Amino acid sequence: MAACIAGAHAIRAQEAQAAAPADPGCAVVAPAAVRQGDPVFVSLAVRSGQSLPALPVELSIRYPDGSESPRAPAHRVPRRTDRVPGEPVPGAGPSARPSSPRAAWMALVGVPTDAPVGTATVVAYSAGVELATVDMDLRKRTWNKETLVLNAALTRIRAQPDPRKDEQAEHYNAVLLTVDPGAVYLDGGFSAPLSGNRRTAFFGDQRTYKYSSGTSAYSVHAGIDYGYPTGTPVSAPGRGKVVMAEERITTGLTVIVEHLPGVYTIYMHLSRMDVLPGQIVERGQSLGAVGSTGLSTGPHLHWELRVLGVACDPEALLGIDKMPDFRTMMPAIEGR
Ligand SMILES: [Zn+2]
Repeated sequence: MAACIAGAHAIRAQEAQAAAPADPGCAVVAPAAVRQGDPVFVSLAVRSGQSLPALPVELSIRYPDGSESPRAPAHRVPRRTDRVPGEPVPGAGPSARPSSPRAAWMALVGVPTDAPVGTATVVAYSAGVELATVDMDLRKRTWNKETLVLNAALTRIRAQPDPRKDEQAEHYNAVLLTVDPGAVYLDGGFSAPLSGNRRTAFFGDQRTYKYSSGTSAYSVHAGIDYGYPTGTPVSAPGRGKVVMAEERITTGLTVIVEHLPGVYTIYMHLSRMDVLPGQIVERGQSLGAVGSTGLSTGPHLHWELRVLGVACDPEALLGIDKMPDFRTMMPAIEGR
């Protein structure tokens, strides 16, 4: 019986047995349908009695136009002998109910807001070899359009060239593009960073900035804005490591939390920061408070999610269907 053993040797051995049917012994588990801008938990499940891949697994999305997302390093999920057939597989969400596979590796992948719609394919690799795939329906989402009129002071913050801004942008991008395969901090689902959902701007808003000079600029809103008074507590939506807590010209007091390899949540325009870089925060722990620092027209929290650099809808992580059971993973991750 073919085993889902990752690695070129095993694959070549399988290929040598030309008469044997191609049964990799493993399967990619993903939601049947996702939308543009969704963060998506995907996993590589191993059928009962099969071996786990021996080498690191990566998961990616192949889009209908043939382009492919960056490969996300997957992390191990422990084998569970007590898993009930028909029950959800951790990391795959309640919508995935395969008859027997056990999730072995999982990762969060991000669908860009402008991803081509149609039949996309989630691909699992190990040691660069394609192990298994599964199709999912990638659906179109419509985005709001809005125009923001900026006064002279805000125009200066956004549009005036400033080497300090360039330096800050370089550092910010470097942080968000860091993918540390060992950075597995999340140990449960995500919860909202503040209580209430008074949104003053939505994820994916197509924004036109009208500058005081008369010119304008276009951008896509990469996060969600929640309008709440200055001082409203902001908490970590899930366990993670603080990788930035600093004042920036455009985003004001800014906190970035790393949750999984290449997966970050961002908190902007804070009035106060309660954390320091390097600190591990638990879900619900205070990060700071709502404010209006940086490029801001009033007190609000800008909450953002980046997955391998791709801005995704953070609220899509709050849906029960996207909520993995990370608690069962931790013993294996920690080697216990
Ligand atoms: Zn915003």
